[in-house]
Amino acid sequence: MTTSSFDLTGKVAIVTGGNGGIGLGMARGLARAGAAIVVAGRDEAKSRDAVREIEQIGTKAIAISVDVTDKAAVAAMVDATLKQFGRIDILINNAGMSVRQPAHVISLKDWETVIDTNLTSAFICTKAIYPAMKQAGGGKIINIGSMMSIFGAGFAPAYAASKGGIVQFTKSIAVSWAADNIQANAILPGWIDTALTVKAREQVPGLNENVLARTPAKRWGTGDDLAGTAVFLASSASDFVTGTAIPVDGGYSVQS
Ligand code: NDP
Repeated sequence: MTTSSFDLTGKVAIVTGGNGGIGLGMARGLARAGAAIVVAGRDEAKSRDAVREIEQIGTKAIAISVDVTDKAAVAAMVDATLKQFGRIDILINNAGMSVRQPAHVISLKDWETVIDTNLTSAFICTKAIYPAMKQAGGGKIINIGSMMSIFGAGFAPAYAASKGGIVQFTKSIAVSWAADNIQANAILPGWIDTALTVKAREQVPGLNENVLARTPAKRWGTGDDLAGTAVFLASSASDFVTGTAIPVDGGYSVQS
């Protein structure tokens, strides 16, 4: 029997923010490909539900309660994962949030919360898993950017700065850890229908109409739309792919 290069059987994946939206969509995809999943988030009830759903796919899953901006909590998450599964092959830095205020309005505190949650957390989690990944002989890091990794956003400068930064961070670790057989790539989702964007639609007038008008696919994405690219970047199919930022956006970023 030949094994598919997309097969993740025996692999262990941590998905931050894996309890809903895009994170859960990617977690489902990795689980269908055979990986055991660590659902890492703050909301324990949501994480428990996500674990139940992933287990029904037929793979192992555990929930770990963690604030990804807290270095000690992240270290405990890594310890708990290694205790349970003995290895970490895949890390998806997906946890994120936004404060939608222009640069002349947003407070320094809100700026820092966005940068800490979306960018510094990826540094904290990535650094924390590096020894285990190196010891295992390699691994895959997937960082979640945004259309705002490419475009500016007058209504969300902190978010755009965090998502621009995550792409440069991805390229940097791709270069420095290539010798460890660790591949790091970013996914840049287009407009995806999740709790985050339900709120955005309430706060940004005309957003729904603008997204539908500009997206060639003429629809919002779903969390499951991200699963295929996540499986590709988590699997040996992408062993010579590193430092890239792949839009999954229904064509949004190529529309003039
Ligand atoms: P959701 O609000 O549905 O999910 C955000 C997730 O992040 C939740 O699971 C939440 O878990 C987790 N999270 C937030 N802060 C923390 C924290 N401090 N510690 C641990 N977990 C945290 O939004 P999406 O699924 O839409 O967003 C997922 C990612 O995709 C984000 O990085 C977002 O910026 C990005 N993205 C989303 C797009 C969209 O259109 N939806 C477009 C482009 C990028 P909990 O509640 O348990 O803390």
